[in-house]
Amino acid sequence: MEKLNGIKAALIDMDGTLYDSMPNHARAWMEVCRHAGLKAREADFFLLEGSTGANTINLLTRRSLGRDATEAEKADLYALKCRYFAAQPPVAVMSGARRLIDELHRRGIITVLVTGSGQNTLLDRLESDFPGAFPPERRVTSRNVSRGKPAPDPYQHGLELAGVSADRAIAIDNAPLGTQSARAAGIFTVGVVTGPIEASDLLTNGADIVYASMTECADALPQLL
Ligand code: CA
Repeated sequence: MEKLNGIKAALIDMDGTLYDSMPNHARAWMEVCRHAGLKAREADFFLLEGSTGANTINLLTRRSLGRDATEAEKADLYALKCRYFAAQPPVAVMSGARRLIDELHRRGIITVLVTGSGQNTLLDRLESDFPGAFPPERRVTSRNVSRGKPAPDPYQHGLELAGVSADRAIAIDNAPLGTQSARAAGIFTVGVVTGPIEASDLLTNGADIVYASMTECADALPQLL
């Protein structure tokens, strides 16, 4: 493929992209569902990945109980989910993620976090795991946007924080709702396969190119940029 010219910013997803955290999220959500009597399978949470907690709870409630979740239920069940997640075994940095970030910085490309998460368990680790890469003023979390992925809002807000237009940025995300969001914001979208979601699912949901891992993505950067 042709190289992308003049890229100034990389907008990067967190769970399943920077951190190998999706299995823990899925297990924590399953515990919430058992507690609240909501029907779900672990695979659901990989497909819903990138959505805000409130949206996920609303969807599960509609599916199981045929009504919307109340604001109190959204708040209570998300707090419960955060507790269950924090109690899971420690999450590892995704293999290849540090090298990818270093390679971007070496090329003078600034990095911005674009996550649907609002969980401190991982947000609080970013600075020690990726020093200088995602300072608080370059983070989009569930607290900054009301419409989460797949709406364009999170990635659009990321562009604003980076101070660049869509044609000067790339997005890196591992989930269909994330690649949809980035594409809807008009950004060249790099999909990475890091779990059960397949490359074809990312390509049909907005990814312009897909790599089989973060390591492969890091290796391919010189050909892409
Ligand atoms: Ca993700």
